[in-house]
Amino acid sequence: MGCSPRRRIRNEYIRGNKTALMGEQQTTRTRMAGVTGLEAFFAPKAVGVVGASRTPGKVGHEILAALIAGGFEGPILPINPNAEEIEGLACYPDLASAEPTPDLVIVTIPAPGVLETVRQCSRLGIKAMVIISSGFRESGDKGNRLERILLQEARRAGIRILGPNCIGLMVPGQKLNASFGGQLPPPGRVAYFSQSGSLLAAMADMGREYDLGFSRMLSIGNKADIDEVEAIKALGRDEQTHVIGGYLETIDDGDAFVREAERVSRDKPILIMKAGVTGAGERAASSHTGRLAGMEMAYECIFERAGVVRCGSIKAQFDYARAFATQPLPDGHHVAIIANAGGAGIMAADAIEREGLALAELANETTRTLTETLPETASTNNPVDILGDALADRYEFALNTVLDDDAVHSVLVLLSPHAMTECDATAEAVARVTSDKPNKPVVACFLGARRVENAKTVLRRAGVPHYDSPEAAVATLKVMADYARWRRRPKRVVKLFPVNRRKVETIIDRHLRQGAEDVGEADAHDILEAYGFVTPRGQVATSSEQAVNFAEQIGYPVVLKIWSPDILHKSEVDGVKVALTSAQEVMDAFDLMMYRIPRKVPDADIIGVLIQEMFTSGQELVLGMNRDPRFGPLMMVGMGGVMVEVLKDVAFYPAPLTAQEAMEMLVRTRTYHLLDSDNERQDVDFDAIAEGLQRLSQLVTEFPSFQEVDINPFLVGPPGTPPVAVDARMRVAKKQ
Ligand code: ADP
Ligand code: MG
Repeated sequence: MGCSPRRRIRNEYIRGNKTALMGEQQTTRTRMAGVTGLEAFFAPKAVGVVGASRTPGKVGHEILAALIAGGFEGPILPINPNAEEIEGLACYPDLASAEPTPDLVIVTIPAPGVLETVRQCSRLGIKAMVIISSGFRESGDKGNRLERILLQEARRAGIRILGPNCIGLMVPGQKLNASFGGQLPPPGRVAYFSQSGSLLAAMADMGREYDLGFSRMLSIGNKADIDEVEAIKALGRDEQTHVIGGYLETIDDGDAFVREAERVSRDKPILIMKAGVTGAGERAASSHTGRLAGMEMAYECIFERAGVVRCGSIKAQFDYARAFATQPLPDGHHVAIIANAGGAGIMAADAIEREGLALAELANETTRTLTETLPETASTNNPVDILGDALADRYEFALNTVLDDDAVHSVLVLLSPHAMTECDATAEAVARVTSDKPNKPVVACFLGARRVENAKTVLRRAGVPHYDSPEAAVATLKVMADYARWRRRPKRVVKLFPVNRRKVETIIDRHLRQGAEDVGEADAHDILEAYGFVTPRGQVATSSEQAVNFAEQIGYPVVLKIWSPDILHKSEVDGVKVALTSAQEVMDAFDLMMYRIPRKVPDADIIGVLIQEMFTSGQELVLGMNRDPRFGPLMMVGMGGVMVEVLKDVAFYPAPLTAQEAMEMLVRTRTYHLLDSDNERQDVDFDAIAEGLQRLSQLVTEFPSFQEVDINPFLVGPPGTPPVAVDARMRVAKKQ
């Protein structure tokens, strides 16, 4: 190290211009309340480094070195009471003596001193701090307390904090590298925020290698102030940002996340990598729905609801980001493939089918044009095989032709490097066509290694995303098509059914007062009827004579069920006997249950046996809800009966549901396709199932006390016959 004369001069020059700079700072401050609220982070005038160090390898040194190396054009002000100058920059003993006063402060000193720095910033009117230092919430109770105090002070002073415990901030367009995440990536349209510094560093490095430009990179660390919700909000308003990527381990405020993400997704795609599968919020569940739901499912659902593109790996995230950053959104799911070899085309076609995309059916005119010009043996249907001897001109012609076809929503260009293949010239041809016709996404996959190396660079530079495999390319087209469809979806309208709210309120209040979490079967049926569900007729008998009496009133066949508030799953203790057709059978079943079950579950308070009408036809479905502590009520529908948890053929979605969402949930189950298929010819009223889901969604939305609900079986017959909520289980609790 040592002092470079150039830098010293620069420092002098900057100090000499103090007044001019102060003037600019003023504007920055007035803009603070402006567009994103994070302007001082995204375009600071002067940056201070509290804890700047002379010792290479120390964070306080590396940040300063990165700032200098990044080429930040405003003043860089190292703060260190024990140094005169570092890396050629004059050092100041504290922020108050720094000239000019920075508007962004990077803090690298040990945790115990950070609070004092916040106070200094407060006195000096500095509104933006990046706290790199660790030793806060992540380190235990003491650190947690310190972080809370810090945040309180900052809030009081109107200071925004990135971190603590983060690797910093990068704004390539401002040549601002206030981080120890390596060199800056090129400037560009993608913003990235990360709960893990390492992922941010990896993204930046990949950006440099593969020419993906970034607008802002935020390491949010402990997320004391700027968390994922704040980041999405600010980046959503940020004009430099067109695509938002993020890495998250936890989402703390589920409601705020969904609200903000759903709003921002309407203009900009949000690509999230979510790690950390097990959540602290999970607890033992008593319902099928609760057991099937789990934390993972909650994230899946709310991402879908909010239009967030979920990424399964860092590679996938990077793949998607490149396409979203460079390509327009497709108008649909139909893909055209152009290839110079059969094999790769078939692989891509397989992937298209697997992913739920479709091969575009080319218009007659397109096929005719292709046939007229391409060699006779070429395949002019999709996948378009332009043959192994295709040169660049044949690619150019074919790509031009399929892009003109309205049935084509996106194109995948595949190339295998045969002896005569013009790899570079083909890449140039693809670049030419896509810049002429920029309205549909075009992605490429040039197979091979050394022979296609340069062609890949040509494509990248031209903004045509290139993928290592046909599968990766297709997966990217799929998420783009899905996201585009999400943006086109009709406005959500949640239907409200006329219901007897009062009645449910009374029942729930009674439970909450008595501290009874499980809602007994009788109350559950009353609740369901109040919300328009049909329930079976039945009566509870306490003697076998009474049982026969009730059975005769109801009419054979009947079902007998053990009646106890303490038995949740009746069939598990042999507490359900179906299809009893005579007085004798009813009597025997009654006696057997009353004899056996008290021995099986000695603690259960057994009231008697329910005699219920028997349904001999219909399909058994399950409708359910599980309230996630972070994301609220998740609805479930699927194959019902006693095998629910074994078959796991269920779909989830967050309440409140629209009619369309209810139907989409249903369509996602295998059961739906089984019942819908021609050979089965089962007559099932799907609309009635969707309505049941919406009614249940209304119930749990209007009563946040419901923690879990299972309606199983929900017996559904042909259109015209109302479905029956045969059995229901509910749990209520006061809102925590
Ligand atoms: P649990 O879920 O507590 O074991 P259920 O009341 O759901 O008890 O009954 C178990 C199974 O018995 C149901 O999934 C269904 O297959 C069958 N069953 C119960 N009641 C009836 C009924 N009224 N009509 C026809 N089948 C029934
Ligand atoms: Mg049941």
